[in-house]
Amino acid sequence: MQNAAQLDSPEKLETDGRYEPLIGNAKIMLVDDEPLNTEVLQTYLSGEGYSNFVTVSESQEALEIMRRELPDVVLLDLMMPVVSGFDILTAMREDHRLKTIPAIILTSSDDADTKLSALKLGAMDFLAKPVDASELALRLRNTIAAKAYQHHLINFDQLTGLAKQELFVDNIHAALPHIQYAEGSAAVMIVRIENMSQINNSLGRDHGNELILAFSRKLQSCSQPAEVLGNDSNGNVQCHVSRISGDKFALMIGPLATAQQAARLARRVIIETGKPIKIDGQAMFTTTRIGISFFPDDATQVETLISHAETALQHARRGSGEGYMFYADEMNAESSRILAMENGLRTAIEKNELLVTFQPKVNVANGQIIGAEALIRWISEDLGFIPPDEFIPVAERTGMIVPIGAWILEQACHAAAHWRQQFGFEFLLAVNVSIRQLIDSDMEATVKSVLKQTGLPAECLTLELTENMVMENAEANIERLHGLKNIGLKISIDDFGTGYSSLSYLQRFPLDELKVDRSFINELEDETSEAPIVRAMVSLAHDLGMRVVAEGIETQVQLDYIKDLDCELYQGYLCSKPVVIKAFTDLLSAQQG
Ligand code: C2E
Ligand code: CA
Ligand code: CA
Repeated sequence: MQNAAQLDSPEKLETDGRYEPLIGNAKIMLVDDEPLNTEVLQTYLSGEGYSNFVTVSESQEALEIMRRELPDVVLLDLMMPVVSGFDILTAMREDHRLKTIPAIILTSSDDADTKLSALKLGAMDFLAKPVDASELALRLRNTIAAKAYQHHLINFDQLTGLAKQELFVDNIHAALPHIQYAEGSAAVMIVRIENMSQINNSLGRDHGNELILAFSRKLQSCSQPAEVLGNDSNGNVQCHVSRISGDKFALMIGPLATAQQAARLARRVIIETGKPIKIDGQAMFTTTRIGISFFPDDATQVETLISHAETALQHARRGSGEGYMFYADEMNAESSRILAMENGLRTAIEKNELLVTFQPKVNVANGQIIGAEALIRWISEDLGFIPPDEFIPVAERTGMIVPIGAWILEQACHAAAHWRQQFGFEFLLAVNVSIRQLIDSDMEATVKSVLKQTGLPAECLTLELTENMVMENAEANIERLHGLKNIGLKISIDDFGTGYSSLSYLQRFPLDELKVDRSFINELEDETSEAPIVRAMVSLAHDLGMRVVAEGIETQVQLDYIKDLDCELYQGYLCSKPVVIKAFTDLLSAQQG
């Protein structure tokens, strides 16, 4: 329990009147073995406008009654037979629900030691017996105001004034029985500002706070029941909004008739909070993601509903959908698989579970293998074979891609240097690189040291980066790529055509090679083929001085097509699937043979 003196001056709190209504309504518990004393106190206080009393004269019953009534303040006599005021204070401190209830001690003793002991046990204030009426009223007001202030600090976010998570949970606990009674459902949403740390970094904390405040106002206005439900709204619908952490808000709305209504609210929040917010004369944009769980379909417990909404949020953050996601049971299975992958990846290198495979890069004109793309494989002891499309994103998110990427680079360069020597031609090796490797590690130093260690010349190495990766945060990446180019290696843009890069922007990147995505090649055989698009991509690349690789060539027809389009190189099952070192050596031997 906090001492009154430690709180911000209660006088000030009283004058701003914020807690005035609370004071009159406060539930006051009076504990004194002399019924006459409690009667006198009650009479005094009634005159001061208090009306909510619980009186106890059998002190052994005090704690039980206190637990049941949960008063706002206790006036406690110290000297009582059987169970003393000290005993009650001691027990209150040990009960988590009672320890925040302030106690004012009534004592006829003037003994400083007695007072000190009571203070140590958490007493808030003292009143000398016989009690002076105006003194009593004053102490009581201050104590109640301080309690209310403390309650506010504990339960409400200072910046937005919204409920904090614990209060939110309590509110939903209270609301769900009504919703159940109305045979409706309710949606719990977790709403996250995705770019909060960037905003704080670029604008500073104060402006960041302004933005959060503006965001919270928008969120509240979007989620007014009348706004959400339109004509369907009736007075029964409740909406609770809470700030549960720095960049996360929680929201509960119900009773709802359909999930559609929740989806409508989510879309509205995303649209409204996506509009610019003016901070310091500058238009700021926030990106919002939302996870939604449903009562009672997904869960009936508040805590489970919140955790399901969190799970759905994680999926919404990863997905490329509309920015919100409803919880589905499969998500938990998927989440635990992802968790298992996260853990497994940490030890994959040392447990020898990773493997490099190589897929030939072939000269379209003469069918000669001129090099290979290194492609990683993970055969996990616990999870079995996991395709790279599944685990690479996990490795990227956890940062494990940095050591794993360095490992692949080293293995692949080692093999390529060996093949160069053995077969005596300029072997071109391509290695996939994730953007996290460029951002989080000193890629230049890693590449230099691997080249030196393996003896592979820089011009034999091509790093493949996907179009989407380089276009996100393009300016910074242009610089990073120039740094790498200075080593002497080549840069390839992978999965080209799947992203949304502006073609003219492309020429600002120091690129040597463009890989036409497999999805375009797949379509080539159809009547309504993608041939004109591929033709345009190839000629654009050639104009910009790049060579072109067609990915995923499986048939002779496709090969003829891209030959016709003047692609220089291809990869695909037509020549070979990705294979292990030994099998690749056999392919090269056969070619020389
Ligand atoms: P990617 O870089 O576009 O690799 C080409 C993918 O197409 C490979 O899948 C390859 O096996 C597959 N493929 C090649 N030819 C054909 C074909 O003719 N038909 C069909 N249907 N598929 C073909 P894989 O090995 O499963 O790799 C998937 C993706 O995982 C890669 O796409 C790449 O983005 C990522 N990846 C693989 N290894 C690494 C790595 O070492 N580092 C990083 N950062 N990413 C990697
Ligand atoms: Ca690739
Ligand atoms: Ca590709």
